[in-house]
Amino acid sequence: MDFEKLFQHPEYENYVCVNLALVFVCQLLKPYTEQGLQQVHQDIKNKLAGKSKCTGTCGNQPSRWCQPCKSWQKPLQSHSTKRPIDWTKHTTANWEESFENIASVFTTLPGDGTPANYLDLSNACSIWERCKAFEMKKVVINNVRKCRNKYFAHNDTLRVDGNSKAEVFDALRDLLNDKDVGSHIDKILCMDKLQKIMNTPCLQNTISNIKKNFDHQSEKTIESLSKSTAMVSEKCEILKDIQYELKKLNQNQTRVNLEIIDNLHDISKMVKTTNKSLKKHVLAMFVYIAVAFTIAGRYISGNNKPDWNGISSNNMANNIPAGKLKNFVFISFVL
Ligand SMILES: [Zn+2]
Repeated sequence: MDFEKLFQHPEYENYVCVNLALVFVCQLLKPYTEQGLQQVHQDIKNKLAGKSKCTGTCGNQPSRWCQPCKSWQKPLQSHSTKRPIDWTKHTTANWEESFENIASVFTTLPGDGTPANYLDLSNACSIWERCKAFEMKKVVINNVRKCRNKYFAHNDTLRVDGNSKAEVFDALRDLLNDKDVGSHIDKILCMDKLQKIMNTPCLQNTISNIKKNFDHQSEKTIESLSKSTAMVSEKCEILKDIQYELKKLNQNQTRVNLEIIDNLHDISKMVKTTNKSLKKHVLAMFVYIAVAFTIAGRYISGNNKPDWNGISSNNMANNIPAGKLKNFVFISFVL
């Protein structure tokens, strides 16, 4: 695979965009997922109140479990749509401790003794489907799962075409619109954020497009840089802001609004005081903008250079930490 070519391809931008949207929605529905599991956990704890706890020696043979562990089986089964539950791999001893430890009963087991990761969309879909505490429509869950598998997890081309991207965002909108989810999120705000993720192209790619356009301009002036950004700024709010600032600089206005991107403050001061050697400073200005975007771009990938060793799409999903995603979303929206 030619990764250099891939990074420049709009369908790779779509792939990144789809990945971000899937992680975003799963993070968003974390409280919804947790509340449902908590409800089940509390219900069982109430039913078994006063009974003794596991001795901590129960293995993977249900027939040899202690009485307290066996007493969790029936109520857990009654909360599950899947019959029968395969009990052989469950770590029973800590069921009583936390709702997180019963999540694996409703989804695939990690196999390493750790609790199920319900921030993985695939696991979350299984939990919503198999745990009776959730009343999400089956068709909605199935569409989200299908999109996640087809366009992200099992997509070895790392490309997503426009129609498929639209299909993913439709499925995610249906998920946020589901009646059962409704009361757990601020729907208008979340839909707006999802829309912004959909419209945010990969910044690194955008910068290289600006550079390409700028290189082809015969006159390397603020005006030509302004033209270069205009050509790629249609779908990118950040570039629209820069375009706006550039226009003002180009009209030699003395007062420039510098609240949007701090870096532009230094750039504009430099440009205002050096009209004589404009060409040199326009180039410097471009470098400043590129640096600003590179920094912003790092919030998306977490790394400047992706580590392609042993890459799998599942790893990519797990490698976008919640904090970074929040930062990315925050930066995108503030800018
Ligand atoms: Zn036990």
